[in-house]
Formats: sequence, C-alpha cells, structure tokens
Amino acid sequence: MNILFFGPNGSGKGTQGALLKKKFGLAHIESGAIFREHIGGGSELGKKAKVFIDRGDLVPDEITIPMVLETLKSKGANGWLLDGFPRNTAQARKLWEEIQKACLKLDYVVEIALPRDIAKKRILGRRLCKNDNNHPNNVQIEAIKPVNGKCRVCGGELSARSDDLDGQAVDKRHDIYYDEENGTLAAARFFKRLAEQGETNYIELNGEGDIQAIMDKLLAALE
Ligand code: AMP
Repeated sequence: MNILFFGPNGSGKGTQGALLKKKFGLAHIESGAIFREHIGGGSELGKKAKVFIDRGDLVPDEITIPMVLETLKSKGANGWLLDGFPRNTAQARKLWEEIQKACLKLDYVVEIALPRDIAKKRILGRRLCKNDNNHPNNVQIEAIKPVNGKCRVCGGELSARSDDLDGQAVDKRHDIYYDEENGTLAAARFFKRLAEQGETNYIELNGEGDIQAIMDKLLAALE
C-alpha cells in the first residue's frame, strides 16, 4: 500500500503516520526526518539544508526532490507512507510523474485538517525523544504529555527541535502549508483532483479530536 499524508506541522501527522507504518508494515518516509538525519550525520546535503530549515524556509527543490525520490526507490519497494513531501505544486507534479513512470498505485491520500492557531500551539509544545523520533510527546496535548519530563513511551531524554521553538519560523512553515495557490494545500488539492478523476482515494480528517479517535476514523476509511 502506498499512502501520501498531508497535514500542517502540529496536526499529529507524525504520530498517526507511525501508527499506520506499524499496522501496515510501510516504510515511513518523512522528508523532514531525512534532512535531520543528514544534519546529524554532518553530510554536505545536511549542511546546505540546515540554513533553510532553521529559517522555516523550504529547502530548494533541486535538493529535496531527488533526495525524496531516491529514498522512495531505495526504501519503499514494499509500500510507503510519504509525509512532508510534496509541499508545493512543483513537487506534487514531479511525484505524480514518478509514480506513473514506476507504474505504482497511489492507494490513498490522507489530509488531516487543523486550524492554524491550534497547530502552532501544538508545535511549540512538542518534544523529541532521543531514542525514537516517532515516540509522541507534547506538553500541550493531554494524551501524549511527557511523564516527569521524560519520554512517555520509553523514558528517554526529550528535547525540542530548534525550528519548533522559533515562533517566526513556525509561522513561516504554516504560511507555506496553508498557501492554497502554490504551497502545500495546493499540492494536496492537486491530488484531490486526481482522486476526483478516479486516480486515487482522498481521505479528509478533522485533526482536532484525540489521537485514538482520529486513528479509528482513519483505519475505518482505509478498510
Ligand atoms: P518537517 O519535519 O516536516 O517539519 O520538516 C522540517 C523542515 O525540513 C521544513 O521546515 C523544511 O525546511 C524542510 N523540508 C521538509 N520537507 C520538505 C519539502 N518537501 N520541501 C522542502 N523543504 C522541506
């Protein structure tokens, strides 16, 4: 199964994605996480990308598109869940082109919708576990609050992403996400139109509910 996942930063997309990955044995391909791995490993690509990421800007398409498409090829042979890409219409077109070229089926496109003010509050509250990026911890969300300041899943040390603590950078990321002309919502609309033409299935979920309720709705829609 191949799934494309949309949702603003803070919508719980990473958490839902981790659950889906486990349930369907998919490769969870997150463009932001690939960049963070490169930055952590000190690669040239990581150094170039960090400048943009710290400002909340998109990393240029010349760097991002080949990196993501390569990862899809190398890790996604048994099904993928793509998260964080595409974020603009150029990336959307390129992805669709590649999907068609590879004769792949895009089974589902999932969009988690969330008002911008709630998304921002959640971002400022989220914490990363040093042992696993996918352990959900957020000081603003009751269901996934850290326990005694440590990861609620494994007790690991928590930190905040530097780009999450900068309110201006968060606003910039949301400007890109909520841009229906050329940003991420425009990319989502591109796939919604494809769904209307019968090329894929489009599932829209309200991200304001609790994690389990959203997961239940998502699983019911995927049956
Ligand atoms: P995320 O973890 O999805 O919030 O991504 C963190 C940062 O990585 C973003 O703010 C961008 O700077 C960069 N990034 C991730 N995905 C993309 C993409 N598809 N296109 C350009 N930049 C991206």
